[in-house]
Amino acid sequence: MAITAVFPGTFDPIHFGHIDIAHRGALIFDKLIVAVYDRPLKSLLFSPEERLALTRNALNGHSNIEVVGYSGLTVDFCRKVNVKVVLRGLRVFSDFEHEFRMALANNRLAPEVDVVALVTREQHTFLSSTTVREIAALGGDVSSMVPPIVEAALQRRFKELGEGQTVVPMTALRD
Ligand code: ADP
Repeated sequence: MAITAVFPGTFDPIHFGHIDIAHRGALIFDKLIVAVYDRPLKSLLFSPEERLALTRNALNGHSNIEVVGYSGLTVDFCRKVNVKVVLRGLRVFSDFEHEFRMALANNRLAPEVDVVALVTREQHTFLSSTTVREIAALGGDVSSMVPPIVEAALQRRFKELGEGQTVVPMTALRD
């Protein structure tokens, strides 16, 4: 029996940590649906269309990876596409707590859907979309964290937003 997994996320934007989890997932499962959440309740840098396009581009060339957009509950999306495995990535202990709570909540809603979590590779432990956005907002070099197409999109987006942008709050990396 062929097994498909859904790898859901905001991907704002996709980075090498996500890409590594997607590549490894595509080796484990027969098919991987990378599901880009289209209306998260947090301030986003890129539109759903841009996040989809960047994610598609970054994962191009893998015949068993499909990238689609979705809204609403992840478990409802899983039911819609008839998938019973959700793939997630784990970086640090705080991820574990978040994933643990979400897995339990999702399990209450859809007991037939299981979560499989892959532990990040050492070199991606610190990598998050928030860190990438913050470094790029301050003009830092993100070329070791994201593919060139994402780097170009970040430069374009921050140019559009201008100096006084407030989309990315500066919390950790300035000063
Ligand atoms: P969400 O907004 O749902 O947290 P993200 O786009 O931030 O979605 O991430 C999607 C998934 O990718 C999550 O399971 C997250 O833990 C995982 N992930 C993010 N960064 C990394 C990384 N550096 N290494 C491994 N997994 C990661």
